[in-house]
Amino acid sequence: MKKHNFSAGPCILPQEVFEKSAQAVLNFNNSGLSIIEISHRSKDFVAVMEDTRKLALELLGLTDKGYQVVFLQGGASMEFLRIPYNFLKNKAAYLNTGTWANNAMKEAKAFGETIEVASSKNENYNHIPKGFEIPVDADYFHCTSNNTIYGTQMKAFPETKVPVICDMSSDIFSRSLDFSKFDVIYAGAQKNMGAAGVTMVIIKESLLNQTGREIPNILNYAKHIEKESMYNTPSVFAVYTCYLTLNWLKNLGGIEAIEKVNEVKAELLYNEIDRNPLFLGTAATEDRSNMNATFLLKDETHKELFDQMWKDAGINGLSGHRSVGGYRASMYNALPLESVEVLVNVMKELEKAVN
Ligand code: PMP
Repeated sequence: MKKHNFSAGPCILPQEVFEKSAQAVLNFNNSGLSIIEISHRSKDFVAVMEDTRKLALELLGLTDKGYQVVFLQGGASMEFLRIPYNFLKNKAAYLNTGTWANNAMKEAKAFGETIEVASSKNENYNHIPKGFEIPVDADYFHCTSNNTIYGTQMKAFPETKVPVICDMSSDIFSRSLDFSKFDVIYAGAQKNMGAAGVTMVIIKESLLNQTGREIPNILNYAKHIEKESMYNTPSVFAVYTCYLTLNWLKNLGGIEAIEKVNEVKAELLYNEIDRNPLFLGTAATEDRSNMNATFLLKDETHKELFDQMWKDAGINGLSGHRSVGGYRASMYNALPLESVEVLVNVMKELEKAVN
C-alpha cells in the first residue's frame, strides 16, 4: 500500500534520493566500493562535498556574496552552542518562538548577556511576536524561521543593523527569501535536505573572529571553513543525501518552483481545517507554517475513529509533537500534493462518518 509520510523529521525525501543513495551504498560512482567504506578524502567524496557546498549557496542566491558554508555534525542543537561560542561577545538578542528557539537561547547564557526580545510562550507559542525591539548594541539577533512543533512560520524578518542569525532547520529551501539579509543560516539536514546526521551552516565571513575568545577547534567555525568542512570526518552518507536532494531541487527549478507547490499543498490543507467543523487549527492564521500544519479535533471522542481512518489510508506520522498533542501534518518539499489530497479526503470522510 502507498504510504503518505507526514513525519516531522526525519521525514520524506524525494524517491530518487532514496534510490540513488541506496545504490551508492552498494556501488558508489561505479567504483565497486560503497560510499560508506571509502575515505572521506577520496577524490570522489571530496567532489561530493565541494558540489554540495557550492549548490547550497547557489540555490539560496548567495554565491560570491561573502558567505562560507560547512556541513557539520551534532545536529542543529550543536549550533545552539557553537553560535554564542563564535559570535557572542557581550550581548545577544533572541526571539522566543518555541522549544528550539528557547533551547538556543539557553545555550547563549553561558557566554554573555542574553536578551529575550519577545516570547509567545504564555500562549503556547501559537503565534510569532511582532513589534519588538532589538538592542542596537547586540552582537546578533537570533530567530527561528519555522517552529516545527507549533506550526508557526516567520513571514517577515525584522529590519535591523544587528547581524541576523536564523535557525531554518524546518523550512530551508522551501520558500524564496532574500537570504543575503541573514548573516548566519543553519539547518539540520533531516527535513528538506537529507538524512539526519549533518547540519548546514552558512556564515558571512565578516562575522568570524570578532569575539577575541579562544575557541576549541571542533567548535570553531573558522577552523571548519579553513578545512573546507573536512576538519574531522564528515557524515559522508548524510552529506551525500544532501547532495542528491539539492540536485533534485535544482533540476526541479530551484526554490521558486518548489515554493509554488508548497503553497498549493498548505492552502489545500488549511482550507479543509477551516472548513471542516470537526477541526481547529492551532496557530494564528497569519503565522501559519507552510511546512508544519498543527490542528486539533474539537471533539476528542472522534480521535479513535480518525486515527484509524488515516492509518488505513496509508498516512504516517500525523500525531502532534509529544509536548503538545493533537495533529501535525508536515508537508516538506518532497511530500507530493497527492498525499495532502489523501489527508483532506480522510478529514471529509470523518465528517460524513460522524454526522
Ligand atoms: N531547530 C528546529 C527548528 C527543529 O525543528 C529541530 C528539530 N526538529 C531542531 C532545531 C533540533 O535539531 P537536532 O535534533 O538536529 O539537534
